[in-house]
Amino acid sequence: MAGNKTLTIIKPGAVKNRHIGGIFAKIEEAGFRVSAIKSLKLAPAEAEVFYSIHRDKPFFQELVDFMSSGPVVAAVLKKEDAVEDFRELIGSTDPAEAKEGTIRKLFAESKSHNAIHGSDSDENAENECNFFFSKKEYLEKH
Ligand code: GDP
Repeated sequence: MAGNKTLTIIKPGAVKNRHIGGIFAKIEEAGFRVSAIKSLKLAPAEAEVFYSIHRDKPFFQELVDFMSSGPVVAAVLKKEDAVEDFRELIGSTDPAEAKEGTIRKLFAESKSHNAIHGSDSDENAENECNFFFSKKEYLEKH
């Protein structure tokens, strides 16, 4: 059975470009409930842990530098089939390939500065939610 939550991060570029409100409007319009939310600045070492799956990729250092370059907004989102539906809502990694109306098509600057993160599996969603949030930080019963 598919899980009902996913983890999103509004990346530093989208925060800087004042897209927090526009992005969350799309998220709520699409039927997701915000279950926990906070702003923070990731230390480079924290970004390395969060993206450790990409450790061996050529763009790893660039990714870590970017994700720790400024404040982000992290949130836990709830909805049936959250992971799959949210990946559909954000669109392809590269905004040039993302479908019209998707968050990355609307708000991303480039493949590396692509506005938003969305978990890619239920298992990763669980781990990523726990990476950012403790139980008491949830807006609703958890
Ligand atoms: P996602 O699941 O759609 O976010 O994509 P991936 O898991 O493949 O990559 C994670 C993140 O790494 C992406 O969201 C981008 O921010 C970044 N990224 C992916 N490919 C590249 C690349 O070729 N160059 C750089 N600089 N960053 C990339």
